[in-house]
This record gives sequence, C-alpha cells and structure tokens, in this order.
Amino acid sequence: MSNETKKPNLTIRILIGLFAGFIIGLLIQFFSAILMKGDAETVFQVFGQELSLTALIVEGFFNAFLVEGIFTVGGTIFVNSLKMLVVPLVFVSLVCGVSSLSDPAKLGRLGGKSVGLYLLTTAIAVTVALTAATIFKPGANFDLPEQAAFEPKEAPGLAQVIIDMFPSNPVASLADGNMLQIIIFSILVGVAISLSKESGSKVRAGFEYVNDVIMKIVTIIMNLAPYGVFFLIAKLASTIEFAKFANIMAYFLLVFFLLIAHLLITYPTLLTIFTRLNPLVLLTKMKDTMLFAFSSASSNATIPVTKATAEKRLGVDNSVSSFTIPLGATINMDGTAIMQGVATVFIAQAYGIGLDMSQLLMVVLTATLASVGTAGVPGVGLIMLAMVLQQVGLPVEGIALIIGIDRLLDMTRTIVNVTGDCTVTCIVAKSEGALDESVFYDKRNMNEAVS
Ligand code: ASP
Repeated sequence: MSNETKKPNLTIRILIGLFAGFIIGLLIQFFSAILMKGDAETVFQVFGQELSLTALIVEGFFNAFLVEGIFTVGGTIFVNSLKMLVVPLVFVSLVCGVSSLSDPAKLGRLGGKSVGLYLLTTAIAVTVALTAATIFKPGANFDLPEQAAFEPKEAPGLAQVIIDMFPSNPVASLADGNMLQIIIFSILVGVAISLSKESGSKVRAGFEYVNDVIMKIVTIIMNLAPYGVFFLIAKLASTIEFAKFANIMAYFLLVFFLLIAHLLITYPTLLTIFTRLNPLVLLTKMKDTMLFAFSSASSNATIPVTKATAEKRLGVDNSVSSFTIPLGATINMDGTAIMQGVATVFIAQAYGIGLDMSQLLMVVLTATLASVGTAGVPGVGLIMLAMVLQQVGLPVEGIALIIGIDRLLDMTRTIVNVTGDCTVTCIVAKSEGALDESVFYDKRNMNEAVS
C-alpha cells in the first residue's frame, strides 16, 4: 500500500508537523517573554491565589494547558506508541528471521560482520571527533561557571555488560525491553524452531502471521506521526533556552558539523567501498526514519520505522534486518560517540587539563564499549559520557556545562545513529546476497511506509 495513492506523501506531512510545531513553540516562548515583561496590574483570584492577567495567560494557558498539557500528552503518547511496538516487533521478527535461515553458519557470519562493522564505525566516529576537537579547541578560553554540578549515574562495567546480555528470565527481559537479552532469546527460539522440523514449521507459520499484524500496527502509527512530531517539536521549541547556547556555541557547532559530516561522508564512503550501491539512494530513502529519530531522540523507539525502511525501501531481507537493526539500535551509536569525543576534549580544555595520547586512546576504547552496554534512548549519551570521563580521570561535573543544550544534539545524533544502523545493515545484507537491488533502486517505493 503506497502512501502516494492514499494521502499526500508522509514525509511532507511529517515535515509540515515539524515546522508548524517549531513555529508555534517559538511563538509561545516569544509571547510569554513579552507578556512577562509587561506590567501586571490586573489581579484575579484563582483558587484563592492572586494572579495577574499576564500570569494567567502565560502560566495557565501557555504553560499548563498547551506546553505541559496538550504538547506533553500528545508527544508522549506518540513516542510511547512507537516504543510499544519495539519489543513484540523485535521478538517476533527476529524469530521469523532466524528460523528462516537454512544455513546455521550464516547466523555466526551475520553476527561477526555486523558487530565488527558497528564497532568500526563507532571507533572512526570517536577518533574523528577527538582529532577535530583537539584542532579546533572549542573549550579553550572558556569561562567556567562558579558551580557546575552534575550527579553521574553509575555506569556498568564490561564484565557486567557481558553477563547482562544473557537472560535469566526471558519474560522479564521482554517486560523490561532489555534488547540484548531479547535478541539472544529470540535467536535461540528461532534456531530451535528450525531444528524442530515439522512442529517447528507450524510454529514458524504462526510467528509469520503475527509479524504481518504487527507491521500493520506500524503503518497505523506511522500515519499518526505528523501529529506526534508536531507535539514533540512544539514542546521543544517553547521550552528551549536560547541563552544557554551562546556560551558554548563553539562546542555545539563542532558536534553538529561532525555529525553532519559523518552522515554525509563516512557512511556514503563505507557503503560505496563495501557494496558499490549508490549512497544517495540510501540517504533519500531514509528521510522518514531520520524524521522519526530526530523527533523522538531514541533509536530504540525508531526501530519499527528503521526496520520497515530497510526491508520495504532498501530491499534488505528480513533474515538480516530483523537481527542487525535491533542490534544496531542497541550497540551502535556513532552520533553519540562523536558527542563524547568532542565533549571529553571540551571539558578537559575548559578545566585546563591536558590529555595525552594514552588518555585519548582510552576515550576511543571506552566510548566504543560504552555504546555496547547502553540502549538507544533519549539522553543516554550523557550517562555514557560520565563513564568515559571517569575512565580518563576528568571531572564528571563538567557534564553540567553541556547538559543545557544537549537535547538538540541528542535529536541530531540519533539521526546519525539510525543511519549507521541502516548503512551497516545494507553492507551486511549485500555481502550475504540478502539485498534485492531492484527494490533498492526502485523509486516507486520511495514513500512506502509499510505494507
Ligand atoms: N538518543 C540517542 C539514541 O537513542 C542516544 C544518545 O546519544 O543519548 O540513539
């Protein structure tokens, strides 16, 4: 089912939602500021409290009703509906994918290639970021505020990361949405199905029917995306504090520029080298996935859209994408690694601390491994950054310097993260003969959501 035949193109509708949300959010912020400056003589009694007319409009209508009310409720429901699909989708489609593999050795190859490529792209990202930040010095001559405070959360150790990959109770893993545990369990179920011959083929047929139904729910939710995106962006634009940007503009711009460069240079180059496929096709076909990633700031919540794009628009076989996409959303975060590279050097420079070569290498290693142990959800990059800073002995409270503007970078780096997942998926699929080039190059499925 093509969106073209039903409604105007989904991307256009999402973009309209995004821009409308942005403008309305900015207008709310602008009028709140003007109203709060004006005099506040008219006083009303509201629930025993004295309120001026301006306070009533700004606090009551703008903040309570629109921003904290409609925008927050609408935006959260939208992101939750996406998240709602992630666990059933990953479980069911991975079982289908693995059980359809005729050659068990293929599973090992898939795992090896995708993990290898995910780690490679992340290492490239953090190395480029460290080099650029060392050259451009975004934190030099930075005036440290008096109290910069940040309470780091406990970051998991490597041994724990490995232990945590194996579920002791698969129902709990599904309930908690623990992606690596779900992946391991689904692979086991899939392998067992394919080994169980006759009963296995019946169970597999059941899983495939359920998979079709879940994909239908994805279509329904994708069609609601323009409204969801509107609410999310309107809330962001009405609450974003522009004053905070001025201080750390050099940091912001450097991370932003490197994210775009990774998206437009590193991935296309890797795709060309490994597959000879046209990277422009990949980037254009990922437009909706990028918009979802940007608005939700969560590669995990975007899994249903990323997976649909890989299969329906890029021609990747389900046996590859059902494995590489959820795996990538969990362990592959190049955009996040770029932020960590720049942030580490920025914080070191702001505090006037020099970093030697061994510390820089330690950053590459920790940032790459940290991305394996943490899931792609909003803001998780900062928790991983705490781990990196601790590892190289930098003040963790330095995170307070960049936290104020992190949301916008979080949204942008999530675009990079999901594009990395799709690029690696295409490379692995091509090498396994599981990529249908006629679908990849077919322009008619450019706006295909999910059918
Ligand atoms: N929000 C990012 C993601 O989900 C992770 C992060 O950088 O905080 O991919």
